[in-house]
Amino acid sequence: MSIAVAIDGPVGAGKSTIAKECANRLGFIYVDTGAMYRGIGLYCVRNGIGTRDGAAVEDALSQIKIEITLQDGTQHIILNGADVSEEIRLPEISMAASDVSAIPAVRAFLLDLQRGFADNNNVIMDGRDIGTVVLPDAEVKIYLTAGDEIRAKRRYDELVAKGKVVKYEDVLADLRQRDYNDMHRETAPLKQAEDAVLADTSELDFDGSVTLIENIIKSKAGM
Ligand code: C5P
Repeated sequence: MSIAVAIDGPVGAGKSTIAKECANRLGFIYVDTGAMYRGIGLYCVRNGIGTRDGAAVEDALSQIKIEITLQDGTQHIILNGADVSEEIRLPEISMAASDVSAIPAVRAFLLDLQRGFADNNNVIMDGRDIGTVVLPDAEVKIYLTAGDEIRAKRRYDELVAKGKVVKYEDVLADLRQRDYNDMHRETAPLKQAEDAVLADTSELDFDGSVTLIENIIKSKAGM
């Protein structure tokens, strides 16, 4: 029987970096569902489709093929045959992903793809609705969070380290806006699943966060 670990939480809680490292240590496959929403957001931006225009985005879904491949243990996202793993990380694509993720048809479009990963693999899947909607029977559910100013500071430092010119206030405002959108949409809003363990990393560094999450997984999954 395979084990599924669902990690949900707000923007910049460190879900993907922590989940990736835990997956490496435990030999699980890591699945980043945010990348899929980003892929759809990128397609819309490139093709001049309004990301808040539900009908237009829904129409466009028939022209979108999202595939996920693993190369040397790293997830790559393929949009209509082209690797867009880099482009989807642009800040303007974050907001586009947030917009399209509120459209029910977009969520339905990605659901089978997401669930398919957990069918025959041990997975750590991160997102906003994994424990509540995508994998409600996951053996381990974690709600990973940290204070919003701490999350914004971490995100800001990351962007600066990549050579991006950004303002901390803008990063904080963007993060708060995306959290608000995720928590208040009608379909699959971000919330802690009733049976999820709350993990707050405000006071922890990266290593401490990874150890915390690894220990929760091991104890809940009986490993
Ligand atoms: O996690 P990441 O920031 O890459 O996700 C991009 C956007 O996709 C989020 O702001 C959120 O609106 C959306 N998302 C979602 N459900 C998921 C994963 C991401 O709505 N399971």
